[in-house]
Amino acid sequence: MITRVKKIDADSLAEAREIILSGGVVAFPTETVYGLGGNALDDGAVKSIFEIKGRPNDNPLIAHVCEGYDLSRIVDFDPPYAAALRRAFLPGPLTLVYPSRGKVSPRVSCGLDTLAVRVPSHPGAQAFLRAVGVPVVAPSANLSKHVSPTSAAHVLDDFDGKIPLILDGGACTGGIESTVCDVTGEYPVILRPGLVTREMIERLAGRCGAAPATLGPGEKAKSPGMLYKHYSPRCRTLLFPEDGRAEAEDAFRRETAAGNRALFLCEGKLADELNARGMSALNLGYCGEEMAARLYGLLREAEKRADVLIAVEPAERGGVMTGVLNRLKKACASADIPH
Ligand code: AMP
Ligand code: MG
Repeated sequence: MITRVKKIDADSLAEAREIILSGGVVAFPTETVYGLGGNALDDGAVKSIFEIKGRPNDNPLIAHVCEGYDLSRIVDFDPPYAAALRRAFLPGPLTLVYPSRGKVSPRVSCGLDTLAVRVPSHPGAQAFLRAVGVPVVAPSANLSKHVSPTSAAHVLDDFDGKIPLILDGGACTGGIESTVCDVTGEYPVILRPGLVTREMIERLAGRCGAAPATLGPGEKAKSPGMLYKHYSPRCRTLLFPEDGRAEAEDAFRRETAAGNRALFLCEGKLADELNARGMSALNLGYCGEEMAARLYGLLREAEKRADVLIAVEPAERGGVMTGVLNRLKKACASADIPH
């Protein structure tokens, strides 16, 4: 199969529509990362998305719809706080998990009785979703466990020859996946942190929970996909805490002496300082938003340039940094175990 990368225009949208409505898949940009889209109503299309990505079949998908789509067609129940969240943050990088009406393929939610729905704000995503006219499941357009894609070139790196069409909408500005928030209970609970932060949701809904980062014995994850090693570059990774920079520098010297290409990944000021001292460092940026936007591109750069990536946790906490640290820790996790 030849994979074409096309700018988003009337022709490429018509082609995308034809592919999606005949059960195929199309990669498209959103404000967070690129998605691998398929018709959520079509069992075969949903199945093929799991296959193409190599995604574990207990990791449910998010249904994407265009602005103005009547949500009551696919989900039930709407506490007042959920309506308030939609008014404040949609379209945007927030996915809400509702009780499902069972109208989409049962494969979408992997047997759960809930359905995650997102309305992305990216104009290219909106145009694509309007053109196809059906809810579209769209996990990140990368091979499972690999780094999520924030450009059409990243998608091509993972899926060249495996999908027919990539709609190219330029670089994603958000950079990490949507916040996933459960709205089936009395108050919202964040299952995956992202650019719509816990603080933002709390301010609006009065209260906001967050799923624990680790599970106790016998506990079942509400959001199964959160359990896996994820977002990982194809080089060795070492992650040091914010106060572990002396140890990180030791590791850099040790690796370099052993003939390995080592690269640091750290926040702006530290990266500038290390680079000035001749120790190669990738610069994540100087604030949370910048770090979110750059993280995945730098992880992909690292796997091309380095044998070992030596990451140092930025010191900033809360807000967008909760999502950035969540992704960084998973990218540098050493095994495919619950964490
Ligand atoms: P991705 O498609 O790679 O952005 O991942 C989707 C995320 O949404 C994963 O963390 C899933 O576990 C989560 N998710 C999707 N559907 C549900 C659902 N019905 N309940 C809880 N989490 C969900
Ligand atoms: Mg993903």
